[in-house]
Amino acid sequence: MYRTYTCGELRLSDAGKEVTLAGWVQRTRKMGGMTFVDLRDRYGITQLVFNEAIDAELFEQANHLGREYCIRVKGTVNERSNKNKNLPTGEIELVVSFLNVLSESVTPPFTIEDNTDGGDDLRMKYRYLDLRRSCVRKNLELRHRMTILIRNFLDAHNFIEVETPILIGSTPEGARDFVVPSRMNPGQFYALPQSPQTLKQLLMIAGFDRYFQIAKCFRDEDLRADRQPEFTQIDCEMSFVEQDDVINLFEDMARHLFKEIRGVELPAKLQQMTWAEAMRRFGSDKPDLRFGMEFIEAMDVLKGTGTFSVFDNAEYIGGICVPGCANYTRKQLDQLTDFVKKPQIGAKGLVYVKYDEDGTIKSSIDKFYAPEVFLKLKEKMGAKNGDLVLILSGDNANRTRVQLCSLRLEMGDRLGLRDKNKFECLWIIDFPLFEWSDEEQRLMSTHHPFTMPNPDDVSLLDEHPEKVRAKAYDFVCNGIEVGGGSLRIHDSKLQEKMFQVLGFTQEKAMAQFGFLINAFKYGAPPHAGLAFGLDRFVSIMAGLDSIRDCIAFPKNNSGRDVMLDAPSELDPKQLDELQLKIDLKKE
Ligand code: ASP
Repeated sequence: MYRTYTCGELRLSDAGKEVTLAGWVQRTRKMGGMTFVDLRDRYGITQLVFNEAIDAELFEQANHLGREYCIRVKGTVNERSNKNKNLPTGEIELVVSFLNVLSESVTPPFTIEDNTDGGDDLRMKYRYLDLRRSCVRKNLELRHRMTILIRNFLDAHNFIEVETPILIGSTPEGARDFVVPSRMNPGQFYALPQSPQTLKQLLMIAGFDRYFQIAKCFRDEDLRADRQPEFTQIDCEMSFVEQDDVINLFEDMARHLFKEIRGVELPAKLQQMTWAEAMRRFGSDKPDLRFGMEFIEAMDVLKGTGTFSVFDNAEYIGGICVPGCANYTRKQLDQLTDFVKKPQIGAKGLVYVKYDEDGTIKSSIDKFYAPEVFLKLKEKMGAKNGDLVLILSGDNANRTRVQLCSLRLEMGDRLGLRDKNKFECLWIIDFPLFEWSDEEQRLMSTHHPFTMPNPDDVSLLDEHPEKVRAKAYDFVCNGIEVGGGSLRIHDSKLQEKMFQVLGFTQEKAMAQFGFLINAFKYGAPPHAGLAFGLDRFVSIMAGLDSIRDCIAFPKNNSGRDVMLDAPSELDPKQLDELQLKIDLKKE
């Protein structure tokens, strides 16, 4: 037997036992005639002792152990005189009588400890060493637990797990596809699924009734901290359901996960907020409800006085009341102004009003307004003495609200109000069915083209498509979109109509989605579904800043796997087989 116990298992009650352990050398300390080694495996750390007085040769061997050597030891469990209360195994040590080096290690490029000295790139290049760190491993263990809980929950609710193909056809509606050349069909390409959307709908037509899959999805988009080119969705679809059936069931699933993983009870019923309300109150379709500072519109107080043209010309003037920050210094306010003017945010400037504790009022616009106006504003904003009011304005209401949202989140961060151990979940409903794309110069689906328009708005499809609401819903937690889905169209006529509104010719719609439109002609049941982003869900549960930390082998911000050095060029022979020639456009 390689080992009789793991390194996390032995306790005082095991004292006197002869045991065998195997693991990695975390640390060695020589103290006179004694050498102590911390032996680590997935389960924990056990202290080993080598005593010169007992076995000089073994002692000598131990002094040659380097960090990350993989070893096996036999010995006797002994009560420690110097107990370590922070370690579950801290009351015992193993007095070693036999040592076997299974595998030596060169010096690792960074320390294998929670507080490592390794930078991001180095840790990714040697991810297998990074994964030896317990803080990283724990995230993957949590991910595993969540996946098991999800599978069991869905199984108990009659869902069938079905694998859908990874090599499918390209449907360039939505994000960019990753494509794979086909050797057997020269000049033709598969695409990797952005999600199993159409396939799961076909499973409903096939009568599967309830489907799920822990599905790998691929999107060729620019990356951010919460995006990876490949990611995992908990992908689900159900037949014969209405919006609230889906919402209730998956709310129960979320409740179950929060309870089991974090011991947190979500409210018995989660709030459902319309998209329009979320935009108005928080400037976001994924509001962070862990803190207040809701937007308050101040058009009636500040617009139209003829004294300040910036506000007089604005389509939106609104602000937030930041509690207790009237003492912000010039420098801090300048920093905030720079913050909102950053290109990613794009505001033209920031107006502040400080309502000091002693009742004095100071503002960046005090020369434009009479003192009564600031008092009216104080009432409107619900400000108290000691508060700071921050105001943005602009000629496009929603764009300004989005800028104000960034400022609100920034203030939430500064005031420490975005507590990772607090969870505020809600559903956002009634999304607009379409949104205008500046890049494409046309309407695009907000969710995807299979989403059912709100029946009350269908008559607007031709004249005012931008006013049509979707039967779509997102699950939002702490300002992050964790999941989203919709009722689906199950009528081939309506589906064709949707493609028409999206600017598809009938030929193009049939070429790309004919399989689905045809399938709808064979008794398609009403159906709906949603998908949760597993990586995001795990990272919220684990309180991580980036989804990368809960992915075993993630890609960096340029979409590279630095460990595998992928993507890479193809061997000429492979290109030849594929009958492909590379002719890169020079920049
Ligand atoms: N397929 C959708 C997505 O990936 C989710 C859904 O509608 O079920 O966003």
